[in-house]
Amino acid sequence: MLAVLKAEDLGRIYESGLIFKKRHVALQGISLEMEAGKTLGLMGVSGSGKTTLGKILAGLERPSCGKVFFAGKDLRSMSGREYAAFRRAVQMVFQDPEGSLNPQKSIEQSIHEVLELLKIPGREWQDRTEEMLDMVGLSEELLCRYPSQISGGQCQRVALGRVLLLRPQAIILDEPTSALDISVQAQILNLLKYLQRDLGLAFLLISHQPEVIRFMAHDTIILEGGRTSII
Ligand code: ADP
Ligand code: MG
Repeated sequence: MLAVLKAEDLGRIYESGLIFKKRHVALQGISLEMEAGKTLGLMGVSGSGKTTLGKILAGLERPSCGKVFFAGKDLRSMSGREYAAFRRAVQMVFQDPEGSLNPQKSIEQSIHEVLELLKIPGREWQDRTEEMLDMVGLSEELLCRYPSQISGGQCQRVALGRVLLLRPQAIILDEPTSALDISVQAQILNLLKYLQRDLGLAFLLISHQPEVIRFMAHDTIILEGGRTSII
C-alpha cells in the first residue's frame, strides 16, 4: 500500500552563535512510513528529536537534508496547490490542550474560525459543528464556554475536532495525553482509536509512555540522540 507519508534519510541541524558557529545535530538518517489506518509510535527521551521530526513531517519545519513524500510525491517538487493540499491533509496536535486554543475565543468561535478559513458557507456551519462535536464526543453546551472553563480532556477533544474539520489523512500527535489524568488519557486514546478506524487516519503518536505506545501503535521507532535506535 502507498504510504500516506514517507521520510527518507531525514536530517536536521540547528546552528547557533554568530561568530563561532555551533552545530547541533537534532536528527540524522531518519526513514519511516506512515500508512492509512495505522499508528506509528515514536518514543525517546526528552531532547531526542521527537518534536522536530513531527514538525518536519507536518511541514511546520524544513529538514536540513533528506526527503519527505506525501502520497508518493516529494514535497520539494510539489506545485503551490499540491503543497497547500499536503498542509491541510497532515495536521499536528500538541501536548498542552488548553494552550493550543485561543483563550480569548469561545469554543464556538474557535470552531467557526476553522470553518471560515475553509470557506464553508455560513448556512452549513451549524451542521458541520454538530457533526464535529459528535465525532469527538462533546455536547453543544460547551460551545459558549472559553478554554479555561472546560477540562483538559475537553480542550484536547476540541483541538482534535478543529483538526478533523480539515478532513486530514494523517495526524502527528505530540504527547497528546501526557498532560491529562490517567482516566482521561484512556478516554482520549480510545477516541483516537475510534477516529482512526472510522476515518482511516494515519497517526504518528509521540509518547514517552511505553504503555501508551503498546496500546496504540502498530509499529514503533525509538529515537536516541536524533537517530533511530534498534529495539
Ligand atoms: P523532543 O521532542 O524529543 O524532546 P526536540 O525535537 O524538541 O526533542 O529537540 C531535539 C533537540 O534539538 C534538542 O537538543 C533541542 O534542544 C534541539 N532543538 C529543538 N528545536 C530547536 C531550535 N529551534 N533551535 C535550536 N535547537 C533546537
Ligand atoms: Mg517534544
